[in-house]
Amino acid sequence: MAQTSFTLHAQDGQARTGVISTPRGEIRTPAFMPVGTAATVKGMMPESVRETGADILLGNTYHLMLRPGAERIDRLGGLHKFMNWERPILTDSGGFQVMSLSDLRKLTEEGVTFKSHIDGSKHHLTPERSMEIQKLLGSDIVMAFDECPALPADRKRIADSMRLSMRWAQRSRDSFGDRPGHMLFGIMQGGLEQDLREESATALIDIGFDGYAVGGLAVGEGQEAMFGCLDYAPGFLPEDKPRYLMGVGKPDDIVGAVKRGIDMMDCVLPSRSGRTGQAWTRRGQINIKNARHAEDPRPLDENCTCPACRNYSRAYLHHVFKSNEMIAGMLLTWHNLHYFQQIMQEMRDAIAAGTFDAWEAEFHAQRAQGDIEPL
Ligand SMILES: [Zn+2]
Repeated sequence: MAQTSFTLHAQDGQARTGVISTPRGEIRTPAFMPVGTAATVKGMMPESVRETGADILLGNTYHLMLRPGAERIDRLGGLHKFMNWERPILTDSGGFQVMSLSDLRKLTEEGVTFKSHIDGSKHHLTPERSMEIQKLLGSDIVMAFDECPALPADRKRIADSMRLSMRWAQRSRDSFGDRPGHMLFGIMQGGLEQDLREESATALIDIGFDGYAVGGLAVGEGQEAMFGCLDYAPGFLPEDKPRYLMGVGKPDDIVGAVKRGIDMMDCVLPSRSGRTGQAWTRRGQINIKNARHAEDPRPLDENCTCPACRNYSRAYLHHVFKSNEMIAGMLLTWHNLHYFQQIMQEMRDAIAAGTFDAWEAEFHAQRAQGDIEPL
């Protein structure tokens, strides 16, 4: 089986563009990964997700282990076949979602015991079991099992948690073994403490991973604090490996992260917002349920080439949301995913051309204008 690689093509300031190669296809970076929590990007056919420009999806270990179960997905040919997505898939380790979603968690050196939020059944997740589940799913990019405290947390709690995650990172590496064609990413922790971030990065580099995530951000600290951490944290990581910022974010979060040297991101925002009537455009955020759209024949964004903007008016989108029609969330999700991928493509082009700063200034200028004036 072919090996994996990461090739950097250009750098502009700290922003980078390149390609991650896997046997299932290339991932152009910086990359935005739509989230397919339960083996589906909600409201989208896989072919449509690809049409928006996505090279890779994210799947959630926690959800898939509980329903339908990793062993069942394996018996059915793996996650790619199961959900009809043949391109690369990254799976998270389950650690973060166990802490945020499940009931009655018990954390020990060995791992975490918890009750399912679906049916109350009891489960045990360890670094070794997380590696086994992600292998059964057939994930192309596997994440080390970690623990992440919500912020704010005191320094001792953050330090203890980070060091536990580093011991789990070593166990994840040992358990993952040698799997050509698949990548294992370590996850840096340490909250907003610069010296703990450096200690964490050093520990991960000693173990050795195919890529490195900046974990423990986008957990309630705010954009300013997140950017403050990203001003130094990526610099602790190897330049020749992909850097992944987990769970980010809004368009301006994504742009600010890329500017600071991040190569990969994921977030439920475009699909979750789409289902609730929130559209993201070059000129900011729009609530399509607002009455001012009820008779507006114009598209969400006249420059957008997605089906929602090419074929439908704001008035139609407003109507189907008001009527609770299924196509409402489908169209807005498609637009949002398309817009997020459009930003990524524009950033890749700007970094390659050495014009990232000018592109970023225009991005903020368009958003500052706000939405188009009512007719
Ligand atoms: Zn559109």
